[in-house]
Amino acid sequence: MTDLCRAPARLLTLVLVSSAAAWTPPAAAAGQASPESYAILKGIVKFGNRHAGASKRGLAVDRLARLLSKRGLETEKVSFESPDPRTGRMWPMTNIVARFRPEASCRFLLGSHFDARHEAEMDPDPARKTKPIAGANDSGSGVAVLVALASRFRETVPKGVGVDVVLFDGEEMGYPDVGGYCAGSRQFAGALTSRPSAGTRTSLPIPKFGIVLDMVASPKSVFKVESYSQEAHPSLVSTLWEIGTRRMPAAFSRERLGWIRDDHFPLIGAGVPSVLVIGYNDPRWHTAADVFEGLSPERLALVEGLLEEFMKDKLSSFLGGCP
Ligand SMILES: [Zn+2]
Repeated sequence: MTDLCRAPARLLTLVLVSSAAAWTPPAAAAGQASPESYAILKGIVKFGNRHAGASKRGLAVDRLARLLSKRGLETEKVSFESPDPRTGRMWPMTNIVARFRPEASCRFLLGSHFDARHEAEMDPDPARKTKPIAGANDSGSGVAVLVALASRFRETVPKGVGVDVVLFDGEEMGYPDVGGYCAGSRQFAGALTSRPSAGTRTSLPIPKFGIVLDMVASPKSVFKVESYSQEAHPSLVSTLWEIGTRRMPAAFSRERLGWIRDDHFPLIGAGVPSVLVIGYNDPRWHTAADVFEGLSPERLALVEGLLEEFMKDKLSSFLGGCP
């Protein structure tokens, strides 16, 4: 596996998508007007900066872990170090791994990165390009949806099935010219394929499949089909897009997005066929404008509702005969 996670192709694709005609969000919301994830997201942003090196980052990590443990998941913080690929400086990182029904051998994975970008390289203001961003959409939104879903796993996940909720660190610790992204999911994927070490449960068992969320709260998002996802698990893509398209036709498109190496990519390499649900065309991506204000409760409700419907009605056919 390459050490690149999200390669320059991402930047190229963003430019192409952004240059498309402006898209107007529909007036009607799919699902609740203000879903649980919207309030959770507001809280996450208030935890403070989550980029590598942020002064109160440890506190933010603890609070994120508590959001999941409070919802009854067995929650573990897995520490590791990873370099800034440009400077070589090592940064302490932490994946948050939370297990619903930890005893179940029949499992699937829901993931999203929680670290925010340490520099706003896409910001039009040169003075802001080296400053960290809040990452409300790019990191906060996916986490908020997963935490909201965790509140209702008992009602939505069939009996005997377990869920690994993984909040990945280090997705943003890379650069378009040198790569290096997705430190957390690479660490997690490596642990999945190695022997379990004493004192940790993160190595076992291997989930049947994964769904990774990223940037799901922009009101202008259109969810297109990412190409590694399509290759890894076409029937899961088809099912998720069928539900999404029915719930909010203007927000889902079966058009291909290109090849994006987000946190699903190392999972695929580790034998967990995984699908990325990403609202790729956010004009505030990697700029100082990626703040809570202006994000869409309707988009959050859409993704929350999509995954709840999937877990209630479709999950069993993706578990390969278990439990
Ligand atoms: Zn990002």
